[in-house]
Amino acid sequence: MKLEPIIDKILLEESQEKHKRSGLYSPSSFGRCFRYQYWHMLDVPKTNFSDAQALRVMSNGKIIHRWIQNIIKKQYPEAILEEEVTTHDCHTFIDVVLPDRAIEIKTCHPWMFKHMEKGDFILSRDQKPHFLQAVHGAMVTDKDYAQLIYIERQNLLMKEFIIPITGETAWKVDEELATLREIKIKNWLPEPIPRAFEGKECCWGKKNDKFCPYYNKCKGVSNDRQ
Ligand code: SF4
Repeated sequence: MKLEPIIDKILLEESQEKHKRSGLYSPSSFGRCFRYQYWHMLDVPKTNFSDAQALRVMSNGKIIHRWIQNIIKKQYPEAILEEEVTTHDCHTFIDVVLPDRAIEIKTCHPWMFKHMEKGDFILSRDQKPHFLQAVHGAMVTDKDYAQLIYIERQNLLMKEFIIPITGETAWKVDEELATLREIKIKNWLPEPIPRAFEGKECCWGKKNDKFCPYYNKCKGVSNDRQ
C-alpha cells in the first residue's frame, strides 16, 4: 500500500466538491480582482483547479491553522473559534474572536516571511487582502482590534500585526465594500484587473501555475480544466 497517491486522490476529490455558496461576498477575497470576486459571489463554476502539490501545501496551512487556534483556546477559554458572521454583503468565518479583537491566522512561504521583515513592508499595501479581511472581521464583531498572525511554514517562525480599528482602517474596508455593492447592484462584469499579489493574481510561481480558478473562463481558453 502506498499512501501518497491515496492522499492526493482524496485532496483532489475534496477540492472539487461543490459547496453551496451564500450568494454573498467572501471577505477572504477582499483586495483581489473584482471580476474574480464577482464570479465567486455568483458561484460561477470554476474552470481551473489546484494540483495535488498545491493542495498539500494548503493542507499544511490548515494543520498549522488548527494548531494555533487550539493553543489560543487553551490560553483563552473565552475565545470563539470559526465564528460565523453573515451581513447584508458578506458571509464569513472568523478564525478567532476574543473580547477585544478578531484574529486571522495565515501561513506563508519563507520568502514572503522574509519580505515582511523588511523595513519597507506595509501591511495594508503589501498584504492588502489579509489586512482587509482582518479589519472587516473586527468591524462586524464590533471589536477594537484586528490581529493578523503569520506563521512561516518551514520553521514555524511567527510575525504578528495588531491593527486598531480607526476611521482610517475602517475606511479601507468601506471603500472595498462600496465597489462590491455597486458591482452587484448594477450586475456588471468587472474589468479583468488583478489587484493582489503584486499583479500575479492570475498566474503564480515559477511554473506560471494558474492561480485564479476562473483563468480559462476569463482568458477565453476553451478547455474546461488545465
Ligand atoms: S484570470 Fe486574472 S483577471 Fe481574470 S478573473 Fe482571474 S484574477 Fe481576474
